[in-house]
Amino acid sequence: MINLVLFGPPGAGKGTQAKRLVEHYQLVHLSTGDIFRYNIKNQTELGSLAKSYMDKGNLVPDGVTIKMLESEVDKHHSAKGFIFDGFPRTETQARALDDFLAAKGMEVTVMLALHVDDQELTSRLKKRAETEGRADDANPEVIANRIAVYKKETSPVADYYKAKGKFESIDGIGAVDAIEARLKEAIDRRI
Ligand code: AMP
Repeated sequence: MINLVLFGPPGAGKGTQAKRLVEHYQLVHLSTGDIFRYNIKNQTELGSLAKSYMDKGNLVPDGVTIKMLESEVDKHHSAKGFIFDGFPRTETQARALDDFLAAKGMEVTVMLALHVDDQELTSRLKKRAETEGRADDANPEVIANRIAVYKKETSPVADYYKAKGKFESIDGIGAVDAIEARLKEAIDRRI
């Protein structure tokens, strides 16, 4: 079982790389952002709750996010493993994920942290706003808040995995293929 945590600020390339890694390692891709967006599109109760946070660039509360993630994992009994994309984003989520996986005899294999500087992130998010039409990419204030929330609430999650010897920093600048090769090299060393 391989369980990868793909980590990095908004615009780091997590979604793009997750799609490639899923194919290569035959894993199930779970993106909490995508699941929230799916719920917003389908006008579910969860969607309307998530939207009120996402529109401002804030995190959806831990309780809601953890419950949703766990129920998604439980839908895939025969999975060879998972790529968690955009989760965990707080230390509470990281601990919940560890406990939840441990109860099933599983664990996080490694956290892969894509490193991209702020200037590059802002320019990538602006481009993504044009191509994907995400509301939270179109507003500079929301972008700035998401980067601030990442620094304050999410970046400490890296220390959590560092302390467990499960952290790999990956240079997220360059061609998509080159970044994919860096990720695979780090994963292959760990499995
Ligand atoms: P993303 O697609 O990963 O950039 O996520 C978009 C938005 O969804 C974030 O700005 C948060 O509002 C929300 N979100 C996604 N994942 C999480 C999470 N693990 N915890 C809390 N909020 C999340």
